[in-house]
Formats: sequence, C-alpha cells, structure tokens
Amino acid sequence: MGEYIGYDFELTMPDNWIDASTNLSDKHLIAKTWFEVVKDYNIKSFSVDLVRKGADIKFSFIKPGLDRDLTGLAKKLMFLRRFAGYKNVKGKNPIKKLILKLIPFHAFQNEVAVMNTLKGIKAGCRFGVTWFMETDAASHIFGPDSFEGEVGKPILYDSFEDALKDIDEELEKMYNGVVRITGKEPALLVISDHGQSGLRKGKSYHVDLVEEFERNGLHAFSKIDLHEFGEHGQVVVAVSGPRMAHVYALSEKEKVFEILKNLDCIELIVFKDGNEVLVHHKGETINVKNIGEYLSNEEYPFARERISGLMESERCGDFVVTAKKGYEFQRGENKGAHGGLNFEDSVSFAVAHIPGQREKEIDFALSVDVVRLAFESVYGK
Ligand SMILES: [Zn+2]
Repeated sequence: MGEYIGYDFELTMPDNWIDASTNLSDKHLIAKTWFEVVKDYNIKSFSVDLVRKGADIKFSFIKPGLDRDLTGLAKKLMFLRRFAGYKNVKGKNPIKKLILKLIPFHAFQNEVAVMNTLKGIKAGCRFGVTWFMETDAASHIFGPDSFEGEVGKPILYDSFEDALKDIDEELEKMYNGVVRITGKEPALLVISDHGQSGLRKGKSYHVDLVEEFERNGLHAFSKIDLHEFGEHGQVVVAVSGPRMAHVYALSEKEKVFEILKNLDCIELIVFKDGNEVLVHHKGETINVKNIGEYLSNEEYPFARERISGLMESERCGDFVVTAKKGYEFQRGENKGAHGGLNFEDSVSFAVAHIPGQREKEIDFALSVDVVRLAFESVYGK
C-alpha cells in the first residue's frame, strides 16, 4: 500500500497504537476469523485479543473493559515519534528504556484478560478468544528454558516458569468463573501460536538489519512512517518474532539481495522470481518445491507449505529472511525469540478440555486445525 502500518507496541510510536488498537484486524485482516465463523451459527462472541475482526464484543487485552479508541490520546503524544526516528543510528533510546522500566508492559495482563473474559461470558457470549501475553514476554526476556528460582530470586518474576505458573492459576479462575456464570462446564482450548528458541549471548547474535543495510550504504528504515521520515529510504525492514523479517526493497533490489546473502545471521532468504518461489540457503538457490531435500520435515515442520503460503500474500516483503539458530533481528539482551521455520520456533502444545470427551492424544496437528477439531467434538460439524 506504500505506507508503513505498525502493529507493534512501540512506545514512541503513537500511530502504531492507533493501528494496533483500531485497525489491526478490523481494517487490515483479510482472513475469515473464528468470530465470523461462529456468527454463521448465531453464536455471540468476544475477543480479548489482538485479532478481533467479527467479534461482537471487543475487549481490551491490557486493561479492564472494552477496547477504546486510542486515537485521541495517541494524537496528543505524537511528539514522541521524534524519539523513534533513526534510532538505529543513535542506539537505544534512553526515554523509552526508562518508560519500560517504570511500567513493565505485561504486568497484570493475565488478571485483566480473565476479568474481561468473564465479562464477555456474562454478556451472553458463548465463544471467545483470550490472549495471555506474559508467557511470550517472559520467555523472550528470560529465555524459554528459565526456571523459577534458578536464574534469579524465587519471589521476583524472573523466569518463563513463573509466567506459566501464573497462567495456570488464571486458567483455573477462568474455568471456575465460567462454570459459576453459565452453570455448565466449558470446552476449553489452551493453545500457543508459536514456540520459542533460546538465543546466544553477545552483540553479534542480536542483529539490527537496518544497521546492517546502513553499514553497506543503503538507507534503511523500520517502525517509522516513510512519508514523514523516509523520503530517501531504499529499504524497509519489518521484523517479527524477531527471528524473521520482511525486507521491502524500494530500490536497488539486487544490492539488497547481495547484502542479505553476506550476512552471518541469516539462515534462509525467500523471494519470488515470476511465479516461482525461491529459497536461498547455504549459498544455493532452491525452488521451494524441492525444499524438502534440504530442510527435513522433522527440523523444519511444514516448511514448504508455510513458505508458499507466506509468499502468496501481496503484502509480503520482496525478501523474507529467517535468522540462524541463536540469532535474532533485534538489538538487546533477550534470551528467547521466534519467527523462524525451525522446530523450536514453530512447535508447541495444545490442550483441549471438552466435556463428555474421552482422553485422546494427537501427535501432530497444525494450530489452525485445533479449533476446528474442538468445534467438531462439541457440535459434530
Ligand atoms: Zn513473542
């Protein structure tokens, strides 16, 4: 669309708040959501999640109550944007650092999520999605293999295990709350949207692609409005996970590819050539149809399907890159990240508790199938 639309909670980017709170799924999400599916069955639904297109009630996932339009407040704080511009060159922004220290973004999010969920049930909703973001935050900060009391002090929130235990307690509250309100046992699905890989320590494992492009003589940008700051921009980098990134070459496409090929941190470079999807991997360029010969399905589950599906979108970057094991595309000292196609990043667990169902184990399923499987168990269709 020729514009940068931010869905990240960049504190210094109030226009991102507007996009994330008001436009994300309502305006920009193309796919049919489960909220829209259940509408066809006359089931009222709520969302306590970023994805909420089609939900009858849209709750905030960070504060009690409905998701309010942040436009007014954000507009007043637009001056903060100047702190975001060119931060790649200046390094870490001290103001942002201070704000994050004072108000850890994820504090109490689990409690709020359960509170809003029960409000949705009371209002008559019989389908809903609730997002607990603390496990993700904690496993980025402390690493996916961090255990309570081992790394830090037992009372402080300092491990992935802490976050997981906390969610376990909140799930119990949620379950009991639903039973109390409806007088019935709910079908409860606990699923994760991705896994998490451990990251290695040291600056060379936490790479800012914008810096790398700048070092190689291209003007690169991320998280800022091209119209305002980026009139001379040649590359836009949109990082996710942050072990994958969409790279949009506004000019100098060949040079962008050359630079990417020479970066130590990159595992795969995916791009299109006409109708073919190609993958650059260890110095070779492979057609995605043959990717199975290079990336095993055990180590890179559904790599071919996921790459092909990704490249179908018109919003996709000119290049999509993933990081090698132990690396992320972000400066800092985080100990975990995701976004790659490798097993650790991709695979997680799902637990479905459905009244009247006998215990059954399924070895391997796609996350997109989990809700469908549960619906079939409950409604038989
Ligand atoms: Zn994450």
